[in-house]
Amino acid sequence: MMGVDVSAALQELFQLQEKDLELDRLRAEIEKLPPELAELRNTWEQKIDQLTELKERLKAVRRDYEKNDLELKDLSQKKSKAQAEQLQAESAREATQYENRIQQLSTRIDELTELTLPLIEEMERLEAAIQALEEELAGLKPELDRLEEENRARIEGLEAQYQALAEERARMAAAIPGAVLREYEAIRRARRGVGVTRMVKVKETFRCEACSVQLPTHVAQKVYQGQRLIRCPSCGRILARPS
Ligand SMILES: [Zn+2]
Repeated sequence: MMGVDVSAALQELFQLQEKDLELDRLRAEIEKLPPELAELRNTWEQKIDQLTELKERLKAVRRDYEKNDLELKDLSQKKSKAQAEQLQAESAREATQYENRIQQLSTRIDELTELTLPLIEEMERLEAAIQALEEELAGLKPELDRLEEENRARIEGLEAQYQALAEERARMAAAIPGAVLREYEAIRRARRGVGVTRMVKVKETFRCEACSVQLPTHVAQKVYQGQRLIRCPSCGRILARPS
């Protein structure tokens, strides 16, 4: 820090910090989603999740249904074959055997049909729910698109403002000695935005304006001497004389 005009450097740091805080505010503004859009995005995502879940359930029910359906077709074929063979039976005993087989197959077909009907109902119910949800989503889409577009335009405007400010900031920073600038920036990063602050006189003592700690007399003295940059022993911020 040798050879640095401390009071000039502090002056420049305060101006730079003003610009930095303005940039911080602008960045926060850019990142803040309009509540209307945040809410609609949230609703949209919930409904998309619901839709995905319904589609998965439909897929699972359809799989069960198709398995049953295949088995039913197979049983029906076997039953038809047994009925055809029964007509060719050469004895009453053989005819009775076919009759028993046909009876067994019929029972199995009835049982399986009874299990399959609720699956068909469930598929119909899910298909209707999916359609209703898709219609709801289609109804929300134009408003969502409109809000997203509005937000894009808002961000674009703010980003242009940010860019202009950042260029100004870069010009200001270029005039500050590198070591001072780096120290200030490191503190600002660690301390959420404020790298340089002032002492405030409270009765006969001095406090750090940023963290309120009471400063030891020798620290306050050094700040007044202004020979080098002095930092608050508590929060580490660069200290300047009271304004
Ligand atoms: Zn402090």
